[in-house]
Amino acid sequence: MLHRVWGYDAFRGEQAQIIDRVVAGGDALVLMPTGGGKSLCYQVPSLVRDGIGVVVSPLIALMQDQVDALAANGVRAAFLNSTQGPDERARVERDVVTGQVDMLYLAPERLKIESTRSLLDRARIALFAIDEAHCVAQWGHDFRPDYLELSVLHERWPDVPRIALTATATPQTHREISARLGLDDAAHFVADFDRPNIQYRIEPKTGAMQQLLTFIRTEHSGDAGIVYCLSRNSVERTAAALVQQGIAALPYHAGLDARVRERNQAQFLREDGIVMVATIAFGMGIDKPDVRFVAHLDMPKSVEGYYQETGRAGRDGLPSTAWLAYGLNDVVQQRRMIDQSEGDAAHRRQLSAHLDAMLALCETIECRRVRLLAYFGQESSACGNCDTCLAPPESWDGTVPAQKLLSTIVRLDRERGQRYGVAHLVDILTGKQSPRVTELGHDSLATFGIGQDLSDADWKAVARQLLAQGYVAVSGDGYGTLVLSPTSAEVLAGRVEVRMRRDPVKTPRAGRTRR
Ligand code: ADP
Ligand code: ZN
Repeated sequence: MLHRVWGYDAFRGEQAQIIDRVVAGGDALVLMPTGGGKSLCYQVPSLVRDGIGVVVSPLIALMQDQVDALAANGVRAAFLNSTQGPDERARVERDVVTGQVDMLYLAPERLKIESTRSLLDRARIALFAIDEAHCVAQWGHDFRPDYLELSVLHERWPDVPRIALTATATPQTHREISARLGLDDAAHFVADFDRPNIQYRIEPKTGAMQQLLTFIRTEHSGDAGIVYCLSRNSVERTAAALVQQGIAALPYHAGLDARVRERNQAQFLREDGIVMVATIAFGMGIDKPDVRFVAHLDMPKSVEGYYQETGRAGRDGLPSTAWLAYGLNDVVQQRRMIDQSEGDAAHRRQLSAHLDAMLALCETIECRRVRLLAYFGQESSACGNCDTCLAPPESWDGTVPAQKLLSTIVRLDRERGQRYGVAHLVDILTGKQSPRVTELGHDSLATFGIGQDLSDADWKAVARQLLAQGYVAVSGDGYGTLVLSPTSAEVLAGRVEVRMRRDPVKTPRAGRTRR
């Protein structure tokens, strides 16, 4: 089947064992990184077994593409989702009942509808594939309530084998998928999550646009790549700036006209050396083997997100770079977004936990890959192909500077209702008579000028790492004012030592000093 339908010579990794298991009627839980080849694990058994392979997927936008790709190989595939009109749906339903379909893609919410369930009752079903199975995990990064309904599959059609697949594999998510989908008897297949050809690098932001330009020009000139930004606005700005510098960049975000989006995506896939500047709306289901770099201009919200997005680089196995510029503002902004997010306290705690894990990866002085894989429950040793392995960062005892910064916050706290950013704190510490310092009389604070031993950049790094380690917090005033956290007192009392990562010293380049 692999050879006849897909024209491939051999299975990859554990595909053969997984397929054997499902063909024989057993359940399977598959954890495999993006690009690992999950689709064949359910497509092949769908064709080998009698009946229709039913694939539950939340990626409605990709269903047409998936169906077209299968059709190109002669597989009769169809889908049912909310984008269809009644006529088209009726036609698909007729084909399902009469067995004119090999594979049926279903949006999860379809299964809540009794008519869909009775349709499946009337059809012969080869298997259920639950794609993006981590969506069932409430503590995961991409929970979808409709996925909780999928326990119906087992209850209503107990004899049909199920295969659940995901590229998110924290041990916690793994357990939760298994429990919520009732996969008690499933065989578990956990692939190696390491992507050895990807070099991981995370550097402090000094001037993100200039850093990105330098990175692309010196290491990936003329290469295809993806640059991720948090907002549509910064996508537009960054793409325009790259184009102005002679780099073939295109924007992609949900706010663009659908036709523009499609055209840009097609151009990225078809032509060589296009840099796609995008929000995370871009990339899911994109299979371009020669993406040489993925750059993040803003910090992702979770390690899962970071891994998935960087995983789009180097699917062809050739050397590729995952590059992230990360700064104080990222932390402030994301903490603020969590504070202001809707949902209950438990939800906010969960977002915080995801962010903390991402921050720990950014600030680690260990091998990035070791940290990353450990997050997915996989043990490894120092890789030799990440920034901390290639240039081990120094760590230093930042307790005294931390105390100086926290003492300043304590003093400012007494003047209630004040709003000031980190820059103002740094001005006070370094003894700068800025207009605002003079206006507010902050040059008379006891901590004014006590931090002249460090530069502005050093102080920002101190603030960033205190935030990352939770020794300061961001107030809920919407201005990003730094306030004390529950653990600040430990530092002020000298009960803990604050270890900090020393930011690499960069030789200043032209254009870099602009702020
Ligand atoms: P995933 O869903 O795990 O991200 P895909 O199923 O999309 O990965 O597979 C990634 C790419 O690898 C696809 O282009 C697919 O055709 C290819 N592929 C998967 N298995 C094999 C194989 N055994 N031989 C050759 N190519 C394969
Ligand atoms: Zn390493």
